[in-house]
Amino acid sequence: MSGVEVQGIRKSFGGAPVLDDVAMRFAEGRFTSLLGPSGSGKTTLLRIIGGFEAPDAGTVTIGGADVTHTPLWKRRIGMVFQSYALFPHMSVADNVAYGLHRQGIRGAAARAEVARALALVELEGFDARRPKQLSGGQQQRVALARAIVTKPRVLLLDEPLSALDRRLRQTMQVELRRIQRDSGLTTIFVTHDQEEALTLSDRVAILDGGRIVQEGPPAEVYERPATRFAATFLGDAN
Ligand code: ADP
Repeated sequence: MSGVEVQGIRKSFGGAPVLDDVAMRFAEGRFTSLLGPSGSGKTTLLRIIGGFEAPDAGTVTIGGADVTHTPLWKRRIGMVFQSYALFPHMSVADNVAYGLHRQGIRGAAARAEVARALALVELEGFDARRPKQLSGGQQQRVALARAIVTKPRVLLLDEPLSALDRRLRQTMQVELRRIQRDSGLTTIFVTHDQEEALTLSDRVAILDGGRIVQEGPPAEVYERPATRFAATFLGDAN
């Protein structure tokens, strides 16, 4: 059970509302995009789901259990940010094994899990390399392997491809989707890139000014934008 539900989420920073009564269900095993312009509150919502930030009001449930007040390390979340944030002094294998070590998994058991995660992102044989010996796309795949090696219930991706050049980004989009399908992880993907959201996702939610203005399958969102904002924003993709 790994579906995510948020209800009545409110958050302000310094008196300025950033999320205004957000309710949304992220279906188990599905790839859902949170799409919206910069400043619409996407990252804040993702951070609240991950437990990096507490909401002022509202609830977060994972697999039906209320985790609103559960510390992030108990939520079993994998997260990948825009900047790779790999440990530069550690090998690829040690970077990936980091979360396992924190859970007390070491030795042969850890090595087997690392090998499995690296195989999933198609980086077999890269164990001993350092991050600086890898391309941007490879580094981002290591970050993905590190996020999924601990078998999280939910994968949170915050613009994970936006630092990559256009060609690499397109390759990684296909990769990301394959990895998500192979792993069956409930995935929430934050992006301001309409095309990326529409091509990658099972469902798309559009955020504007801290509110979800539309939610549905990509084709429906694209063909029948529910608001003038959604129509204008999606129109930019063409
Ligand atoms: P998005 O991911 O859609 O670009 P964010 O959730 O990052 O939007 O930010 C929404 C708004 O909240 C922005 O105006 C941003 O400046 C503000 N904000 C986000 N985090 C903080 C914080 N920790 N302190 C103050 N303001 C913040």
